[in-house]
Amino acid sequence: MPVQASRKVLLQAKHPARIVLLASALIGLVSLAACGRAEQARPSASVTKSGAGLQRLVPSNPMMVGYPRLSLPMSQLGAETMPADEVACRRELKRLGVTYQDLAPINDGGACSIDYPVKVSQLSGGINMAPAATLSCDMAVAFASWTKNELAPNARRRYWSGVKTIHQGSSYSCRRINRTNVASEHSKGNALDVMRIELNNGRDIKVEKQGLFAFRARGLLNTVRADGCDYFTTVLGPGYNADHADHFHFDIKDRRNGYRACR
Ligand SMILES: [Zn+2]
Repeated sequence: MPVQASRKVLLQAKHPARIVLLASALIGLVSLAACGRAEQARPSASVTKSGAGLQRLVPSNPMMVGYPRLSLPMSQLGAETMPADEVACRRELKRLGVTYQDLAPINDGGACSIDYPVKVSQLSGGINMAPAATLSCDMAVAFASWTKNELAPNARRRYWSGVKTIHQGSSYSCRRINRTNVASEHSKGNALDVMRIELNNGRDIKVEKQGLFAFRARGLLNTVRADGCDYFTTVLGPGYNADHADHFHFDIKDRRNGYRACR
């Protein structure tokens, strides 16, 4: 747990100058603890492998590890060396009106990494993302585009209301697909689970199989799910299997044959 790790760090800090650095790391840890279950579920690489103690938790070059995951200004994140496609992606996020922060690289071992992660807290039109989602930039653009072009207009058309908050259940998360050995797209920040859509008029639409007479909710969910296939390569939801009975899973898995899994 981050708290234990923090204590360990403090105990091992002998040099006063390091305490300032540690204090800022702690602020990062505390803010992480406030995030959704996705991030809590992820085993923290630096804590589980903390045998090396301070050396490991406070490396001389913080860019070499994904933890502590501080939000730094772009100038400290090596913006000069960011690949052109990542720079272009951020331009697209801004064009879409997305509020995001660049995070330090994530590398939790195995398939679990994002080279240039972003933390998305708001989408176009002031739609909140709760909790803020840690994603690859490409996934952030795909999701922001779907929200802007499909979800928001459909909600307006069917409910005469804008979308206030998208409640997500999992963004970046180091894990495998249930009952398989295959790394989930969540491990690369290329997936997002949508649990609930909250409208400005107070209505709450849970992503689940809707009753026979819930025409509007069913219409909205079916439509935005089908439209999702234009933005993502995988769209799963209620009716697919028990694992997806209570949320939409969207991802941008790269399939060589261009196949899309929309179920
Ligand atoms: Zn998922």
